[in-house]
Amino acid sequence: MNLSFTREEESFRDQVRAFLADKLTADLRAYAKRMTSVYAAKPIAMEWQRILVAQGWACPSWPVEYGGTGWSTAQRYIFDVEMARAGAPPLSPMGIGMCGPALIGHGSKAQKDYYLPRILSGEDFWCQGYSEPHAGSDLAALTMSAVDDGDHFICNGSKIWTTHAHEANMMFCLVRTDATGKPQQGITFLLIDMTAPGVRVDPILMLSGEHIQNAVFFTDVRVPKANVVGKVNEGWTVAKYLLEFERGGSAYGPRLLSRVRSLRQIATEEGLLEADFARKLAQAEAEAQALEAAELQLMSEISGGGTPGIKASMMKIRGTELSQHLTELALELAGVYAAPFQPHHTSPGGPVPGFEGLNTPRVGPESAVTVTPKYLNDRAGSIYAGSNEIQRGILSKGQLGL
Ligand SMILES: Cc1cc2nc3c(=O)[nH]c(=O)nc-3n(C[C@H](O)[C@H](O)[C@H](O)COP(=O)(O)OP(=O)(O)OC[C@H]3O[C@@H](n4cnc5c(N)ncnc54)[C@H](O)[C@@H]3O)c2cc1C
Repeated sequence: MNLSFTREEESFRDQVRAFLADKLTADLRAYAKRMTSVYAAKPIAMEWQRILVAQGWACPSWPVEYGGTGWSTAQRYIFDVEMARAGAPPLSPMGIGMCGPALIGHGSKAQKDYYLPRILSGEDFWCQGYSEPHAGSDLAALTMSAVDDGDHFICNGSKIWTTHAHEANMMFCLVRTDATGKPQQGITFLLIDMTAPGVRVDPILMLSGEHIQNAVFFTDVRVPKANVVGKVNEGWTVAKYLLEFERGGSAYGPRLLSRVRSLRQIATEEGLLEADFARKLAQAEAEAQALEAAELQLMSEISGGGTPGIKASMMKIRGTELSQHLTELALELAGVYAAPFQPHHTSPGGPVPGFEGLNTPRVGPESAVTVTPKYLNDRAGSIYAGSNEIQRGILSKGQLGL
């Protein structure tokens, strides 16, 4: 195992740094600094995506023929690290990070040729329709039905927690096309036009007041059979393939470490770096460094032909728990200034009803305004993309043989 970078990789890092210095504008950096959730608002995510697409760096994991970079695993890691260090806003994960790989892995040539360029151009903005009110961790229990009607399916049912459904024009969705066999059988992976008659989207507000998630209802929605990805009744294979991308997607270490550095800087500037807080920060930093080392080790294994396997579960648990811990330290540091609710001084992941256009002055230091919404939003990190209890179950079975 070799964890150090080669000369070529270091020169690649310089190239990425030069690009970020040139193209990541002060406005985009300032926006990202004030973010309160893991999602940048659509206009910002798309602005940054356009810049990355122009550079040819928007979808490193895709095959080169569809716009991928052909980078090695090490180059992709370096890219992630530099994006985190520079404070770049994240792209919306549902198109490039999820629907794209599903189409690349299981879509027809016609689907790839049609949809992949539209993901990159932003013509299509995607949401993920997996969870239902009674099918979250137990996803195979989903019941939204798709009934055969010649060259169409007729869909009825609902999805919940659907991030960006109110902004998306397309949903990749799991529907039930056969209810007679085992729950995992009879599921189909379907692409649904969100503007089709019979689709209704209702907001679900986060604890922070942001509108990012939704409940989506389908009443007799007609979907062409050409929109099936993979085979009818075999959508579970596509869904599982996609979940690996959702969980094992990106490196947590670099972003966590830059957050620790930022907390230390704020504490120093505010004269609040007393011994107990400094010790907590040092502990968090050591844990983030350990996670980064594990991620580098995993990267080295993948470069040698390995797969993430159950280690993706380990990274997800450690990454999200450490992230939540950092939001708690930030809360401690902000003290009373964590109390005022002033989303109009932050970059929320979606509209905060009642606060649009408000221009009352900020209360407290700039560093404190995002602390509480970040704390509240980050509780979701251990729930989505497979809850941490489920990940622990996977680890205990796969690693410990329990
Ligand atoms: C902010 C946010 C964004 C989301 N975005 C999307 C999206 O865009 N698209 C989408 O399809 N879904 C989305 N989800 C839904 C998410 O995938 C589900 O919330 C998640 O899978 C958990 O399902 P559930 O909420 O139904 O909880 P449940 O499955 O009902 O679980 C409730 C609790 O029981 C625990 N539990 C359940 N089963 C077990 C078990 N076998 N062993 C041990 N513990 C168990 C869970 O860990 C959890 O603590 C989002 C969720 C959130 C919070």
